[in-house]
Amino acid sequence: MIVDRIYRELAANPGSIPKNGREDETMLGLMAAVQRGFQRQFLEREERTALSISGPWTCSRKLLYKREGAPRKPLEPRSQVNFFLGDVVEATAKALAIQAGVLIEPWDQDVPVHLKLRTGALEGHPDAWMRPPVGEPVVLEGFEGVAKWEKLEGELRPGDVFNVEFKKQAEFAFGRLLENGMDNTWGYLSQANGYCASEELQEIARQGGGTVRGTIFVVINTNTGHMAEVFEPFDPLYAQRIASDVEAIEEAESPDDLPRLLTEDETNRGKTTGRQVLGLVCSYCDYAESVCWKGRLEVEFKGTKTGSRPVFVVTGEPEPAMEDPF
Ligand code: SF4
Repeated sequence: MIVDRIYRELAANPGSIPKNGREDETMLGLMAAVQRGFQRQFLEREERTALSISGPWTCSRKLLYKREGAPRKPLEPRSQVNFFLGDVVEATAKALAIQAGVLIEPWDQDVPVHLKLRTGALEGHPDAWMRPPVGEPVVLEGFEGVAKWEKLEGELRPGDVFNVEFKKQAEFAFGRLLENGMDNTWGYLSQANGYCASEELQEIARQGGGTVRGTIFVVINTNTGHMAEVFEPFDPLYAQRIASDVEAIEEAESPDDLPRLLTEDETNRGKTTGRQVLGLVCSYCDYAESVCWKGRLEVEFKGTKTGSRPVFVVTGEPEPAMEDPF
């Protein structure tokens, strides 16, 4: 749907960007997007809010810390660089899609959408949305990139709408994506389904006589440059979970009223060691040491193929498991 067209056009125009009369718009949009990313990440560090942040949707406690401005680990320089590279990859993939003739919208406008809640609405800014191309065959396989559309049920209709998300992933995560589809470890499915459920995308689909079918994740492997698109159908349960998390946060009197994510039993050569360690999401959480598990963690560094990574061992009484990530 997207990646196949990019590959087809690039193959037909070796060494140059495909020309379709939208070059000026593409170049201006690309420059504006890179400029905005640089500004946001390095010049005036801007925290995204509400639906535009994906990570916290896996942990309501983290959302409350964020909203209350709790002390957090300072952002590492490498993370800042990484976030900026994410903006550049997103803008590049979007530019290629437009030059390949994919009718995605919006381009450089920061168009907000709103997820309705009982007590108001959450604002977010999806990367783009599109309708299926009308009157031409949709190529879903047989090109150099990878398209995984097996989760699409039923026929595509002209009025249908897709939310489009552009992401970058390193080799390991890209491999897992191709095997299993997008997972919700970092809240990407929560965020994408929040956009799908938004009043604006639902209305666009209604007006066209279609439905919001789901999200096309266009992902670039940053190790190799390969691209893949993975379709994940719209699942309103994720949006309902966001709504109930927001309500729980509003009702909570302190972060301790909200559950922590699960700890994991540490294993060594397939055997449990009797220690508990933080799970993946908590290990990367800026609030883990400063507030959430304050005084309860010991940090050890363990070797991996790509260097060493911190392992957070939970000290004191074992923590009861309180919540499963969605
Ligand atoms: S450390 Fe884990 S449980 Fe605590 S706020 Fe962060 S993600 Fe949530």
